[in-house]
Amino acid sequence: MAEHVTTIPELLSNVETAAKIARILHEKYLVLEAGDLNSKFSDLVSILNSTKTDISEFQNVINGKNKQISDLEFALKFKDKLVCIGDAYYEIDGNGRPTGHACCIKCWENTYKKRTLVVKTDDAEVKICPTCGQTYSRAETQLIKKKKFGFL
Ligand SMILES: [Zn+2]
Repeated sequence: MAEHVTTIPELLSNVETAAKIARILHEKYLVLEAGDLNSKFSDLVSILNSTKTDISEFQNVINGKNKQISDLEFALKFKDKLVCIGDAYYEIDGNGRPTGHACCIKCWENTYKKRTLVVKTDDAEVKICPTCGQTYSRAETQLIKKKKFGFL
């Protein structure tokens, strides 16, 4: 089932309706019967509460989008500073050489998060991404930099 997201025009319409009810109450409350007054007042409170909830949901959506933008801006900063060698990513130094620790290719390509691989506790030959659990050959992730640039 598709989630209904209230649009800004719907929000404005709700607020407009609430304002209209308030105007009616202000102008005519002396001539309204007590039942009509109660009904209009209930409508007003209901619409205002609903609008308050909708605005809060909009704020959550906006916060989520802002977080996504922030994550993407962070990823863009690293986009040209990373190089993929074998099955892992490495930062590059000023000379374009890989440096530092191997990072998880799966996390980078799926979420643009740089996750440093660690040695698996029960298998010293395997490195693992602590975030997604992807495993890598320790020999490949440790020695590939040296092999690639003739240090071995
Ligand atoms: Zn990962």
